[in-house]
Amino acid sequence: MGGRRCGLMKRPPVRSDLQEMSGYHSPQVDVEVRLNTNEAPFPPPEEFQSAFVAELKEVEWNRYPDRAAQLLREDLAALHDVEPAQIFVANGSNEVLQTLCLTFGGYGRTALSFTPTYAMYAQIARTTQCRVVEVPRDENFLITSSILDNAIENEAPELLFLCSPNNPTGTPESIELVRAAISRAPGLVVVDEAYGQFADFTAIDLFSEDPPPESLVVTRTFSKTWSMAGVRLGYCVMPSWMLNEFEKVVLPYHLDSVKQVAGRVALRFYEEMEERVSQIAFERSRIEAQVANLGLTVWRSQANFVMLRTTPSGLSGDEVWERLLRRSVLVRNCSSWPGLLDCLRVTVGTPSENTTFLAALEEALQ
Ligand code: PMP
Repeated sequence: MGGRRCGLMKRPPVRSDLQEMSGYHSPQVDVEVRLNTNEAPFPPPEEFQSAFVAELKEVEWNRYPDRAAQLLREDLAALHDVEPAQIFVANGSNEVLQTLCLTFGGYGRTALSFTPTYAMYAQIARTTQCRVVEVPRDENFLITSSILDNAIENEAPELLFLCSPNNPTGTPESIELVRAAISRAPGLVVVDEAYGQFADFTAIDLFSEDPPPESLVVTRTFSKTWSMAGVRLGYCVMPSWMLNEFEKVVLPYHLDSVKQVAGRVALRFYEEMEERVSQIAFERSRIEAQVANLGLTVWRSQANFVMLRTTPSGLSGDEVWERLLRRSVLVRNCSSWPGLLDCLRVTVGTPSENTTFLAALEEALQ
C-alpha cells in the first residue's frame, strides 16, 4: 500500500533546461491607474461590439472553425496589399513567434536578439530548444551596423529578431538596418511590429519591392491599437512559401471561429483605430515633454509607451516605482533588465490616467 502511494506521488522530471528557467511575468496589482502592459486604454468602439454580437449568430458552434482562417487572412491581405497566402494568423503575436521558432529554430539552431528588447524572444526560443544569443545594443539602445554585422558574423543565427518600435525603449529601427539584416543574415529575419501602427515606418512595405524578400517575416498584433488584448489575435506577413511550413507545426484548428469573426469585424473599424493612434501619439508627446521637464531622461518613443530613467533625480528606479505604486499608479519596472538600471516604462493611458501619472511622478520625485 505504502509503496503504491509512493508511486502515485512521484513527480515526473521536467525537462532539465526548463528547470533552470523562470516564467515571463508582469506583476498585476489592484491599482487605480494601470500603465504597465502596453494595452490600449479604451475598449473597441461601441459599434464594434454590436456588429460582433450580430456576426456571432452566424457561427456554427458544433463545427470546427475554418482551419485556414481564409476570410480573415483575405481581409488582412487587403489591408496590407499582399496576397492572402502571405498572411498567417495565430493566438496573439506570441504564438506567431512560437510558430517561427518551431519552424526555423529548435535544437542546434541559434536565435539572436538585441537587448534590451522584448524578453519573449529569448523565452520562446529557449522553450523550443534554440541556442539563445542576446547581443547588447549601444549606449543609446541602437543597433549600429557594426553591432549587426558582428552579431551575424559571429553567431550565424537561423533566427534574428528585430523589434520596431522596440519594447521597452520605444525606439524604431531604420529601414536601412532591416535591409542590411535581410541581406546579411543567413536565416530568417523577424521584424516584430507589435507597435507598428504608432511608427513612421513599416517593414511590410518591403514586400512590395521587386524582388520581394524571401527571408523576412513581419509580425503584428490586435492587442494594442485594435484594443483587443483580451481576444489574443496576432498575425504575420511573410513570403507565401512559408505558410505550408507553419501549417505543419501549428495545431489543427488553432484559431477558433469566434476569434476569426472578432478579427474581421475589427478590421471594419480601421479609421476609428487610426484616430486612436493619433490621440495616443499626442498624449505620448505630452508625457515625454513633462517627464523631461521633471529632469528625468526620456527616450523619444514611436510606440504607445515611454521609457524613462530616474537617476538624474537622485532616486533609484525601484524607489520611484514604489512611490508611484503607493499613489495607485502601476508602471513597468525595467530596472532589473540588462542595461536598464533605473528605467521605468509607462504605457500611454487615457488623458486623465496620464495626468494622474504625471502628478504622481512629480510628487514621487519630491
Ligand atoms: N511583441 C512585443 C514587442 C510585445 O510587446 C508584445 C506584447 N507585450 C507581443 C509581441 C505579444 O503580443 P500579443 O498580445 O499579440 O501576443
